[in-house]
Amino acid sequence: MQSFQGQTGAPGIAMGPVLVYDQKMPTTERRQVAADEVERELARLDAALKATETEILQARGRLSEELGEDHARIFDAHRFILLDEILTGQAREIIRQGWCAETAYAEACENIVRSFRHLGGELPDRSGDLRDVERRVLGQLQGRQVSGFRGLSEPVIVVARDISPSDTATMSRDKVRGFVTERGGETSHSVILGRSLGIPVVVGVEGLLEAVRNGDKLILDGHSGKVLLHPDEGAERQLEQLRQAYADLEQESLSYKDHPAETRDGRKIELLANIELPDEVESVVDHGAAGVGLFRTEYLFLTASDYPDEEAQYSAYRRVLEGLAPDPVIIRTMDLGGEKIASYMSFPEEDNPSLGWRGIRYALAREDVFRTQLRAILRAGVHGTLRIMIPMVSQVEEIRAARALIESVKEELQAEGLPFCDDAQLGIMVETPSAVAIAHLLAKEADFFSIGTNDLIQYSLAIDRDNRYVQHLYDPFHPAILRQIKRTVKAGKDAGIWVGICGELPEDPVFAILLIGLGLDEISVNSFRIPEMKRIIRSITYDQAKNLVKSAWSYATATDVRRNVGRLAARKFPDLADSLAREGRNR
Ligand code: PEP
Ligand code: MG
Repeated sequence: MQSFQGQTGAPGIAMGPVLVYDQKMPTTERRQVAADEVERELARLDAALKATETEILQARGRLSEELGEDHARIFDAHRFILLDEILTGQAREIIRQGWCAETAYAEACENIVRSFRHLGGELPDRSGDLRDVERRVLGQLQGRQVSGFRGLSEPVIVVARDISPSDTATMSRDKVRGFVTERGGETSHSVILGRSLGIPVVVGVEGLLEAVRNGDKLILDGHSGKVLLHPDEGAERQLEQLRQAYADLEQESLSYKDHPAETRDGRKIELLANIELPDEVESVVDHGAAGVGLFRTEYLFLTASDYPDEEAQYSAYRRVLEGLAPDPVIIRTMDLGGEKIASYMSFPEEDNPSLGWRGIRYALAREDVFRTQLRAILRAGVHGTLRIMIPMVSQVEEIRAARALIESVKEELQAEGLPFCDDAQLGIMVETPSAVAIAHLLAKEADFFSIGTNDLIQYSLAIDRDNRYVQHLYDPFHPAILRQIKRTVKAGKDAGIWVGICGELPEDPVFAILLIGLGLDEISVNSFRIPEMKRIIRSITYDQAKNLVKSAWSYATATDVRRNVGRLAARKFPDLADSLAREGRNR
């Protein structure tokens, strides 16, 4: 048995056979073969081409069933490339010169991509599609799973260096019991999506890929970040007991789900849920959230094979609004870019994608796509209580442009005689340091603020949220972050607008108490955290929380804030002794 320690991602314990997943192109060593091996390599290539064709046809069939014929056509282009005789002819020729099938196919693809570049604008650049086909063929040659997770027949635990949000979106809980990545942090988008799908996740596990092979038995504990490879019977038994203990704990906290989110001295907090997929509506209701505080709509884009049309988006938004009415639903407009891109989107290569063409910047640049989304949102808005939120705002012009576009879309809908929501609040995410610095100016333009700590921490502390080497520095208790929240709340209050928060909160109840003491009106978290958040809110008074915040200002480091404020909280809130003690052990 080998034991690895990573970081907690999504809660839950999972056991099963490993599937090693390679998101990037399979690595191909340049390998020469002897003359008497050439025939065998040619046969390997033919078999891989045939298997890839079957794979493409199956994927086409599935997509056509799920999303319609229009979406499935992308696979016709892939099949066309796969069968292209220039490409396969070149690959065969390179094998005959004494190279293995992988080297030959990769080199033939590279030659074609180079000729696309050489021809410049004369031919449409199909290199993205070609790379997709190459990935599949090389995957077949190497016997690895390379096409997302839709085609899995048996349940597995996925082990990967990294998994993109669009690949995570193809997972289902019955086929992917859990996943482990070497890269990534707790706030990576794939982890967030794993939580929404109810799939246990561990991230930042060093050296695991080196050690595992397909089919190895593995257990992961998403609560503690522990991963056991080839577990012995004793470990299996222990984790089974732990799984039962976690289930009991969850059951116990569910008893709070129907109580109001109100402090002992009567301050009401709007406690809402973050969702990524329309399917989560049921879970939002079951966990007792009072609506949705963040609907990350980009996943509708990442699970499609082309920009989803107005009707597809309308029905997704309507489902959520209708399912939760009259509770509010905050629909965040597409936060695409960064790592959230799908293969059909023509994104340029960016050196720093997190600082690049993402969020509202991309939306305003792709007005056609943005208008379609706004039409769908506004039309769906008549079926519930709609609020609209703009991501990644860093300057006042962005909210002005978004508001102008919304007004113009309304005029268009009016002219067409289509019903739409005319009075939705328009808010912004405060998740860049510049938005905090000019919060008093933005507050004049926005109807509400929602603080996105995932990105605010990343940009303020200059720590890539997906980079495991700096995860230990990624700390919401950092005095700079607490001060930014305070400043944003003050700017909102001064302007008379409400202020919420929707980043992933640490499990530590002390942080939740600090947020209440900082004066936030609304808190939005993943559904499964709602009952525990209610328990925390109902165990304290607003005054006590404010006093805890006061004590935090005297400490200069995140560690001191966490430790000292944590100790004070343990004395003040005996009702929370169990969870404070649990977190205290980590402090
Ligand atoms: C955030 O940045 O805190 C946030 C909620 O947005 P996302 O995690 O989708 O970037
Ligand atoms: Mg964000």
